[in-house]
Amino acid sequence: MLSTTVFAAILLALLIASAVLWALLLRIGLRWGQVPGVTKRRVALATAITASLYLASCVLLALPSSDAQRMIAEELTLLATALLSCAAISAVFKTRLGQSLQAWLPTLLTPIITLAFIFLVLRPLLYETYTAPTNLMAPTLIGEHWQGICPECGRPNYCSPTDPRFSSAIPPLMICDGFHVTSAAENGKQIHAGDRFLVAKFLSPRRWDLLVFLHPEDPSTLYVKRLIGLPGEEIRMRDGSVWVNGERQTPPDSARGIEYLSAPTNLRGQDLWGSTTRPALLGDDEYFVLNDFSAQPMDSRCWKQGAPGHNPYAVPESHIRGVVTHTYWPPRRWRIHR
Ligand SMILES: [Zn+2]
Repeated sequence: MLSTTVFAAILLALLIASAVLWALLLRIGLRWGQVPGVTKRRVALATAITASLYLASCVLLALPSSDAQRMIAEELTLLATALLSCAAISAVFKTRLGQSLQAWLPTLLTPIITLAFIFLVLRPLLYETYTAPTNLMAPTLIGEHWQGICPECGRPNYCSPTDPRFSSAIPPLMICDGFHVTSAAENGKQIHAGDRFLVAKFLSPRRWDLLVFLHPEDPSTLYVKRLIGLPGEEIRMRDGSVWVNGERQTPPDSARGIEYLSAPTNLRGQDLWGSTTRPALLGDDEYFVLNDFSAQPMDSRCWKQGAPGHNPYAVPESHIRGVVTHTYWPPRRWRIHR
């Protein structure tokens, strides 16, 4: 809950600081435009109206859309917000358009300063948002996907859409909210958008966290996987569970039901890291990560090279970028992860 409290506090502080800054800049503008009848009550009223307009435009801009739609929507929304806040000043202070324009101009510094804070402080040091890139972490985080019904439990299940021109005779595997893995029943399904989630930069990673990191073999790419092994530990997978230093681990409720496989069906015969015959021994600054969709490879089990100077299966501490705290979009997928 710490991350939720911190995030709510930051949002509230940002909102209050922006409103105070806007009111101060409005006062400067009103003096510059020689607007008569400036009272604290009127300044507060104009600030409240403009704050509501900016909040509404932030909600509009946060809605998912295509890149082309987003560009048009952003420009129209910002223009409408600017014009409406100018009209609000004119109505509250009963000024001519020229005077309200003069009063409004200095307030333009508010979104510039707020955005600078978001891009220079908030995103690098506190929180950043991402979209799930794949379905390797399904059902916890789902990327662009086909959705069906699990034949074993009747809950929704997911898999990555495949291009029918290149799809093989073997249907893709699906995983449901109860972690049952089955074959996809049919093709030609609707493609649903992926989850959007919030990542905290200031949390120390703990076992079972959803970790965002730079791929050890290709540091230009960000990945998200579940943190399984911590520095200095020995990791094995046996009987569907994770064993750390010889002790069977109990996952949290959100991950209970995952069957951890040391040999996924499509990689049977290959010797993978974390199997009983090939345990992963982690160095002082190394972490071991696995997919929640354990039947799919592409995690610590099968990396070949690793980062320079590190074990091939390890995520070095310097590659860690944060811990997933919330899934916030779409609203039906809302979840607090940490
Ligand atoms: Zn199921």
